[in-house]
Amino acid sequence: MDDLSRTATVLLPSVVVIGERRASKPMLLVPQIPRNDCLFCRVYAADDQELPWYDRPLIRQGEVGVAVCAVGAFVPGYVLISPAQHESSVQALATEAAPGFLTFVDHVVEAVERMYGPSTLFEHGSCRAEERRRSACITHSHLHVVPGAYSFNLLGLPVRSLGTLADLVNVPSTERADGYLMYREPGGLVQYAPDAGISQYFRRHIARMLGRPEDWDYAVFPQWENVRATLDSFRRSPAVTMPLTEPA
Ligand SMILES: [Zn+2]
Ligand SMILES: [Zn+2]
Repeated sequence: MDDLSRTATVLLPSVVVIGERRASKPMLLVPQIPRNDCLFCRVYAADDQELPWYDRPLIRQGEVGVAVCAVGAFVPGYVLISPAQHESSVQALATEAAPGFLTFVDHVVEAVERMYGPSTLFEHGSCRAEERRRSACITHSHLHVVPGAYSFNLLGLPVRSLGTLADLVNVPSTERADGYLMYREPGGLVQYAPDAGISQYFRRHIARMLGRPEDWDYAVFPQWENVRATLDSFRRSPAVTMPLTEPA
């Protein structure tokens, strides 16, 4: 059995023949065949022991999603939350998958905030069509949760205030941009803007606000000490993770 079929078997235990995926697609909560080159599909499908320590989920929930440490963590407690479905953005999630995932997001944010205080949530939206083939662009939807507040208003984005994350999913397709930026600062509403077309856009801003403007690129500055601190604090807080973690 090759890697792809192993992954597919793990992900789609109750689902029909892989070769017929096109025909059965509307039925699936996990609608696309995961790719081995996709970080989040690999994290979702693998056993923890098969993953490098920094990719091991902090919190996993069934066919809903995972939370992992963010490599390139500016501060301890910085995590990424990703849905099980390989979709390009939270907004692109299937209507039947979105509510469960958003509830999962709420739980993870609560866990982070309990340990690290009020946090900023953001999404670099989907890559625009012309960027999808670039390896630098992670095509599997993920939300960033970063403890702290970083004055995103200083970015001067042409934001539209959406209210809640559910409103993000409910934006009618006719009003959606090809790519978008989304953020929610502590105590604030969800803000939505067209994609600025700059890789790791919010990360560049946070790095500037922290006075370390050169540290924005997670691939160059993984900041392992903060990644390790996040992992350790989740491991030390079983009350936070256990109710959400399903038995292996
Ligand atoms: Zn994926
Ligand atoms: Zn991102």
